[in-house]
Amino acid sequence: MDQLIERFLRYVSFDTQSNPSVAHCPSTDGQTVLAEQLKKELIELELCDVELDENGYLMARLPSNVEHDVPSIGFIAHMDTAPDASGKEVKPQIVENYKGGDIALGAGDEVLSPIQYPDLNKLHGHNIITTDGTTLLGADNKAGIAEIITAIAYLKANPEIKHGDISIGFTPDEEIGRGANLFNVEKFGAQWAYTIDGGPIGELEYENFNATSADVICHGVNVHPGTAKDKMVNAMNIAAKFQLMMPAEETPECTEGYEGFYHLKSMEPAVAKTELGYIIRDFDREGLEHRKAFMQQKVDELNSQLTKGRVELILEDCYFNMREMVEPHPHVIELAKEAMIACDVKPDIKPIRGGTDGARLSFMGLPCPNIFTGGYNFHGIHEFITVEGMEQAVKVIVKLAENTAVKYQ
Ligand SMILES: [Zn+2]
Repeated sequence: MDQLIERFLRYVSFDTQSNPSVAHCPSTDGQTVLAEQLKKELIELELCDVELDENGYLMARLPSNVEHDVPSIGFIAHMDTAPDASGKEVKPQIVENYKGGDIALGAGDEVLSPIQYPDLNKLHGHNIITTDGTTLLGADNKAGIAEIITAIAYLKANPEIKHGDISIGFTPDEEIGRGANLFNVEKFGAQWAYTIDGGPIGELEYENFNATSADVICHGVNVHPGTAKDKMVNAMNIAAKFQLMMPAEETPECTEGYEGFYHLKSMEPAVAKTELGYIIRDFDREGLEHRKAFMQQKVDELNSQLTKGRVELILEDCYFNMREMVEPHPHVIELAKEAMIACDVKPDIKPIRGGTDGARLSFMGLPCPNIFTGGYNFHGIHEFITVEGMEQAVKVIVKLAENTAVKYQ
């Protein structure tokens, strides 16, 4: 387990922040530098089919050590870190045996406080790895990479633990929504997989939002304000009217759990043309369709009221709830739950109020729920992870491999 932390600290020293404004994959060179390093380590571990492809996807396989047929399973993590905060020169600090209270982050004024993050109150006695307050930590998702490699190394060193083929995949550009784009499911060769990209111990996720983007384009008529009487149509007024027709309680700030929402996330205002950028989210596919129809109905209503000017709606589906792809294979979830329970981890199943690469992969034919890494507060300077959580993740990965072989003997 010492190697687990050593690996993690080494991986976070690589700056692998992805960049949404670059079309190339991977979007940044730093990701390739880490991928090359990981490739070396996988070769040193004597894994099979270690291959880093031209798009920065690194794959490898630990071959089965049993005679009988066992389904091959996979574990996936992403190499990039979020664009939201710097991932350059990450200087982690380790707080051993946390006793409560504020943790000073580096030499500055930043603290990690249980008042702001009550989860800390449950972590007394744990060893906590934090940032120095100037960058994110990169536990999302280098903890996942370190945990997968450590689990694979453990299986390799303990051949008495029986398992089938285990595929591993490290992907680029997850944080900018492209991690699944060029993922070669066929080459990966697993029947199902798990992303190790979740939060606190026990997290197990196989439901996520259905997602659509909705652009509402309001067309007005611009005329010099001095001679505008009965001629000007101010598109910003049309847009304001439209926004007031949306359900005020069905927004991100008023919803949680399984509730969906409409979210006005951007606006480009001008007299002649105003564009409203919405995202629509719903766990239920039919619910999403209702929301789309509701917006269309409001657009039609507004158009019928307007004597001049016009409103357009452009809808684009982004991703869907992986539940419909995972539920037909209940053993995928059962095995994860059983592995956790066998490791004294209580499964905490909850819906993801967002999307994941696993959701996309599930629709590409690779059912792919998400399992915890042990981390908290991803994407910002308050990100942290516990050593204990990371160790549990390694144990769960090993157990999953083992239980799959047992179940199918
Ligand atoms: Zn992640």
